Amino acid sequence: MTVQSSDFSVRTPQREALVDITHEVAAIVTAAHVVNGTCVVYCPHTTAAIAVNENADPDVKRDLLYCLARLVPQLREFQHSEGNSDAHVKSSLVGPSLTFIVRNGRLLLGTWQGILFAEFDGPRTRTVQVLLQGE
Ligand code: ZN
Repeated sequence: MTVQSSDFSVRTPQREALVDITHEVAAIVTAAHVVNGTCVVYCPHTTAAIAVNENADPDVKRDLLYCLARLVPQLREFQHSEGNSDAHVKSSLVGPSLTFIVRNGRLLLGTWQGILFAEFDGPRTRTVQVLLQGE
């Protein structure tokens, strides 16, 4: 059983964005030589998250961000002094981490799936933490 932990940075381009990080995570899996196991992808930020969804048509990412903005508007009633409460709520709705299956040395993703770093209060340089367990 192998356990390996690593980080990488993501530069997000604007206040809200879904940034494809599939290749960065896949490269860590390949370098780790884990054949079968699990891969945890974790976001250590309170106004960002990790998602998996369609990565082929960019309109899907736009629609996801549009719906999250409709679900969580910036309300005057928010009390948090930073003025980014909508980003904190979206971060909690989407969630900080996902676990993926590694089989035969590769991330097991659906044909259209990509791993997305969800930025809700950018642009910023963010950190993604990856934990691989397997053999
Ligand atoms: Zn805040």
